[in-house]
Amino acid sequence: MRIFIIDDDPFIRHLMGHQLSELSQAQVYEFDGGVSAMDAITREHHADDLIICDLHMPDKDGVELVRELGQIGFKGGLVLVSGEDARILQTVERLAQGLGLRLLDALQKPVSRHRLEQILQLNRERDLPQTRRKAPPLPANELKQALSRNELINHYQPKVSVRSGEVTGVETLVRWDHPRDGLIYPDRFIAQAEELGLMDPLTFAVLRRALDDAARWHQQGIELQVAVNISMDNLDALDFPERIEHELKQRGLPPTSLMLEVTESRLMRNRLESMDILSRLRLKRVGLSIDDFGTGHSSLAQLRDLPFNELKIDQSFVHGVSHHASLRSIFEGCLSMAQKLGLHTVAEGVEDATDWAFLQYSGCDTAQGWFIARAMPPEQLPHWLQQWQQRRTALIQPAEE
Ligand code: C2E
Ligand code: CA
Ligand code: CA
Repeated sequence: MRIFIIDDDPFIRHLMGHQLSELSQAQVYEFDGGVSAMDAITREHHADDLIICDLHMPDKDGVELVRELGQIGFKGGLVLVSGEDARILQTVERLAQGLGLRLLDALQKPVSRHRLEQILQLNRERDLPQTRRKAPPLPANELKQALSRNELINHYQPKVSVRSGEVTGVETLVRWDHPRDGLIYPDRFIAQAEELGLMDPLTFAVLRRALDDAARWHQQGIELQVAVNISMDNLDALDFPERIEHELKQRGLPPTSLMLEVTESRLMRNRLESMDILSRLRLKRVGLSIDDFGTGHSSLAQLRDLPFNELKIDQSFVHGVSHHASLRSIFEGCLSMAQKLGLHTVAEGVEDATDWAFLQYSGCDTAQGWFIARAMPPEQLPHWLQQWQQRRTALIQPAEE
């Protein structure tokens, strides 16, 4: 293993170099600028190399360096360090992830010895949970076949009350159980279904299955509101509310047992029609949620024009909220706006105990994310519910007297 420290400040550079030599057996190389460092790294680089790089350097800044590391396909670990504004660091962090680099950490100076130890440990555990790779879309005819052959299946991710830990509902997430490739995630076929005009059959296939499962749970004494994702493409036909109502009635389910999560995946084509449709859905008491709030797909204009009763704060503002001041401001801004509008609030992407602990005092109503549960097949849900009953008591802060 080799460690490259790139920093134009000699004091910091030597200090980190010294600490890292003490903490590991690695060869430590120090560079006072990006140009000489990139020369050396381009010549030779290995998957167990570790680069610790300051963002602000006079000859070649950290952003250029990150870009070039992406270009040469650097496979080692990368740590970004900055004395700058935490927001710049966050942006470059996203850039590095987008370029497929194995970013271990993004830190503000000064870096403690303890943190360096943790970084070395992380670099040794080379197989960090990777974010799912975006694979190419599948052939168009296959998606049509998938629909006719019933290869789309539903998984469900629980939504729980932040205050009581009670499970209030589940979100339906579609998967394609592909006969050759196994389970395929929606990021590989939803956009394609939209382009091919298949969103109507897809949505109704998912919705019918979700309502079937909800009706079955109801019979078993499990009351859950099911959420189904719809795209703006679904809001083209004016009879959409009646069709939804029909599906509910057929199974004897009340309209309040359904929540529709709406995102604007493409440009909203027909604003007036969607206002008409969504208003009538609300009049029928079906729940409407504005999904991924805060991203380009969900705007303030939508919030102004459409009758939502729930707002889901996008996961990119939730995970890590307790230790990033800017995320916290955005999160709290979304939350307070939603509360003033009388909307039920959901935080999605609650990934760890720190995210959960933050929510306990935030005033947000509902939490969803891997910390609570990953999406699961319907038959696993009853067992998960039992396990959660045991776990939840330990997770809830006792109410103040
Ligand atoms: P979404 O509606 O924002 O769904 C949440 C996504 O985040 C899901 O990915 C879920 O598995 C993932 N997730 C949940 N908890 C966590 C967490 O703690 N951390 C992280 N990093 N991720 C978490 P999935 O299932 O791959 O779905 C991706 C998107 O596909 C969904 O995003 C939704 O927009 C779309 N989608 C899924 N099913 C349907 C559907 O039936 N119809 C439509 N129109 N879109 C769907
Ligand atoms: Ca959703
Ligand atoms: Ca979402």
